[in-house]
Amino acid sequence: SGKAYSFLMRTKQPAGLVDNRLYLVMDELANQFGNGTLRLTTRQTYQLHGVLKHNLKTVFSTVIKNMGSTLATCGDVNRNVMGPAAPFKNRPDYMAAQKLASDCADLLAPQSGAYYDMWLDGEKFVSVYTEDPKVTADRAFNAHGTNFENSPEPIYGAQFLPRKFKIAVTVPGDNSVDLFTNDLGIVVIMDEADPTKVRGYNLFVGGGMGRTRGDEETFPRLADPLGFVAADDIFHAVKAVVAVHRDYGRRDNRKQARLKYVIAEWGLDKFRTVFEQYFGKAVAPSVPLPAWEYRDYLGWGDQGDGKLYYGIYVQNGRVKGEAKKALRAVIERFGLPVTLTPHQNIILRDVDPAHKAEISATLAAGGLRPPLEWDSLDRLSMACPALPLCGLAVTESERALPDVNKRLRASMAKVGLPPDQAVLIRMTGCPNGCVRTYVAELAFVGDGPNSYQVWLGGNANGTRLAVPYQDRVKVKDLEAFVEPLFTAFRDGRGPGEAFGDWAARLGVEGVRSATAAAAAG
Ligand code: SF4
Repeated sequence: SGKAYSFLMRTKQPAGLVDNRLYLVMDELANQFGNGTLRLTTRQTYQLHGVLKHNLKTVFSTVIKNMGSTLATCGDVNRNVMGPAAPFKNRPDYMAAQKLASDCADLLAPQSGAYYDMWLDGEKFVSVYTEDPKVTADRAFNAHGTNFENSPEPIYGAQFLPRKFKIAVTVPGDNSVDLFTNDLGIVVIMDEADPTKVRGYNLFVGGGMGRTRGDEETFPRLADPLGFVAADDIFHAVKAVVAVHRDYGRRDNRKQARLKYVIAEWGLDKFRTVFEQYFGKAVAPSVPLPAWEYRDYLGWGDQGDGKLYYGIYVQNGRVKGEAKKALRAVIERFGLPVTLTPHQNIILRDVDPAHKAEISATLAAGGLRPPLEWDSLDRLSMACPALPLCGLAVTESERALPDVNKRLRASMAKVGLPPDQAVLIRMTGCPNGCVRTYVAELAFVGDGPNSYQVWLGGNANGTRLAVPYQDRVKVKDLEAFVEPLFTAFRDGRGPGEAFGDWAARLGVEGVRSATAAAAAG
């Protein structure tokens, strides 16, 4: 038919690492074949919206030939593996986490040739994958009577997974990846005697944000600690977790097919027992970890190798207009690689200190404000694309959040909260939770046209789930809804207590009565 079907293309970038050439290619493709904008995602990838069907092959093959990939960015397989965006070259722990993200992506990449057949007429661009032979040699997985060694898909088998699978890797203390929202979270533990060497990994299993509208049997969940595995065992452990999902995830109900439902049903101890049958040995107790922090790497910083990095705040991950041109100009002129962060921002890497002033000036001329000039509500918040780009959206998100943030700031000012009061806000156009909504201090989940279910009580370091507080809050009634809430927070908070901590301490009923008292008073 002559109908102009339009598609979304997503790329695969383990740990968000993008080399200079791929950045420039993606920037160009967005102009030629997309809608002229680049969308950075919460899983550290690109999305190109608006690719027309007859251009798909050109776009995909251009990405692949330029060392990118779109392989396994959708479907019931392992999705983009997240890693910390920290651009430090003198931190073996961060470098190990980024390398492991890439290795896990290789390990779990679908092996079927159909991908290359479709987009490259069977031509193999082997250079796309610079696989570590240690990883690929270990790919075939033979456990629990299941042997897919001779199958085209040694891990996934003929049926693939019941549902998508998400992995994030990080270092102790840095939860910029929202580790606990993943099916599998991996924390790199360095050797105390030799801090350049990895000793092993703490594993967390069973996180996931997705809910389905109108289905109370679906829920967000944070990952639980599974235990510690030695460095040499990590690929086997990753495959064992994937295989438990493959073999026990529900295939009769897609809405409940994620690994989190298996663990919620079994409990962690049973999951650990089954995991150990696949893993072939006992998992050790988790290594104690320090408290988690949210780190965003925005602004100028030292990479530790004589070069600088510059983290740029990108509102809701949308790179467009003059800012897009200015970014391209500096990335092209100075040959810079970049990192896409888990918060939809972008970090320029390997900057020669001699170029700092020119880069700052070019970006400022393109309207890219330094990160600290943004309101902390903007800096900390995220919105999903929603309308008009996502078929599941029931209301606005990306287009609505900037104005909502302004109105929230004005309401905070009105009730006398300090101008630098930070609150971690996330908004989505449906309950699916694509911006990891349910760990926010204040979350808006689309539940109808210009209407949101409000969740409260997550925290800034992503270690606590929010809870539903009120349905059907209309955008037009935002002030009437938040001002009593902020007044109650102002009056009831402990010294330095964060908004999410206050809400969690009071609980839903406590917040309701404090808010009712504030409204009456
Ligand atoms: Fe679409 Fe819902 Fe995801 Fe937003 S949260 S991008 S509306 S599926």
